[in-house]
Amino acid sequence: MYTYETLLAAITVEGGREVHNPATGELIGRVPTHTAADVDAAIDRAEAAQPAWAALSDEERVGYMNKIADAIEANAEALAELLSREQGKPLNGPNARFEVGGCVAWTRVPAGTPLPVEVVVDDGETYAEMHYRPLGVVGAITPWNWPMMIAIWQIIPSLRMGNTVVSKPSEYTTLSGLALNHILNTVLPAGVLETVAGAGDLGARLVESDKIAKIMFTGSTRTGKKIIEASSGNVKRLTLELGGNDAGIVLDDVDPKAIAEGLFWGAFINTGQTCAALKRLYVPDSIYDEVVNELAAFAAQMPMGQGLDEQNVLGPLQNEMQFNVVDRLVESAKASGARVVMGGNPDRDATGYFYPTTLIADIDPANELVTEEQFGPALPIIRYSDLDEAIRMANELEVGLGGSVWSSDRDRARAVAARVQAGTVWINSHGTINPFVPFGGAKQSGYGQEFGVAGLKAVAQPQVIQG
Ligand code: NDP
Repeated sequence: MYTYETLLAAITVEGGREVHNPATGELIGRVPTHTAADVDAAIDRAEAAQPAWAALSDEERVGYMNKIADAIEANAEALAELLSREQGKPLNGPNARFEVGGCVAWTRVPAGTPLPVEVVVDDGETYAEMHYRPLGVVGAITPWNWPMMIAIWQIIPSLRMGNTVVSKPSEYTTLSGLALNHILNTVLPAGVLETVAGAGDLGARLVESDKIAKIMFTGSTRTGKKIIEASSGNVKRLTLELGGNDAGIVLDDVDPKAIAEGLFWGAFINTGQTCAALKRLYVPDSIYDEVVNELAAFAAQMPMGQGLDEQNVLGPLQNEMQFNVVDRLVESAKASGARVVMGGNPDRDATGYFYPTTLIADIDPANELVTEEQFGPALPIIRYSDLDEAIRMANELEVGLGGSVWSSDRDRARAVAARVQAGTVWINSHGTINPFVPFGGAKQSGYGQEFGVAGLKAVAQPQVIQG
């Protein structure tokens, strides 16, 4: 069992690139900078290990998955502390400890999900079965917002289905990726999970390699499009989770006080740095002021600060690039005459990338803070008087990861949900993912599904055996 100190010592590299805490600027550790040749060598090791891994029975691989879940659980506190220091997210609230708990859940559920051979036709004349075979080596490119949990989403189903994996953590959260994979590798045979770390063109090297059969990528639409282009060489399979700009539509029958907490966490989970967070909220004129006031009252009680302080539930932005995105978009909203209900006044000279919890009301629906993804703690609240018009605005962007409808009438909410163009539409919550329930985007939010049976099938080659 590791402590934070022994875990860090196991992964940090003398003379490596410095990693700093985004809340305090403190030096945390040093990480390797791998080269293209290192990536090629990692791919070769994963390729060499794959036949023996695929030759194990499903039960044997499931046994490894369950041991992985045990190992994460045994080292949960060390992992959470490292994650908090490097990513910035607080230990408490839906943050670091929650994320490590998610790693355990998203390991045990795919391990426990049966995937029997499917008999698709058996009519006396034709007999056809569907099997799911390993693809080979999977490349996993993981972002910096949920660097452990998203890595697990990519790695565990791939391993279960008989693939080996080359994992590339984000350059912003390399220690978190290295630490998680180190724990997994205390259980796995050599070569089954390789890790490459660095910045520049390692992701592109993975995508270009003909030895990689599939890429799992979570990140920006811009990079996703480059991956699509580069995948044509060997017709690579892709699962692309490219973020979004999720709309929430409040209907006029809600109790504003009752939905305030759900709205807040839908938007501000992980300090807004979540792909399927609520990023623009449409509220009817008749209850607009009450909804804004209740949300502001709830938000005002939620402490923001450095992650290791047990009382905090909101943290800094993870990096300067993201701080600048949020700052630019809020300034644009302010300049347009939108009303600042709270926040919007960061201390740009302070240590740490803290951006205060920000609510912006009476904003033009065409303002950049509404139409661009802020990926941070600033929520625009748009007033509407016609529900059809709200649905039209929700659907007018080119992305469609998630969406939500808030109502005390479930049937009415479901009817509206059916008209929202998104991979998932939640009713009276937002972003509440579950390892049994498939998750994936519509439109330019990407394609392919993760989680559940669909997620296992997505990292396998379907094969029909007929006759
Ligand atoms: P990206 O989301 O674009 O991802 C960068 C990652 O992609 C790095 O690991 C990088 O590795 C790799 N990469 C870059 N180019 C290629 C390529 N051509 N082929 C394969 N891999 C490549 O960037 P950022 O992290 O900078 O975030 C930018 C924006 O993305 C944020 O502002 C936010 O809006 C959104 N985002 C969305 C997330 C989500 O959950 N959907 C998560 C994080 C960010 P390398 O440099 O080594 O090649």
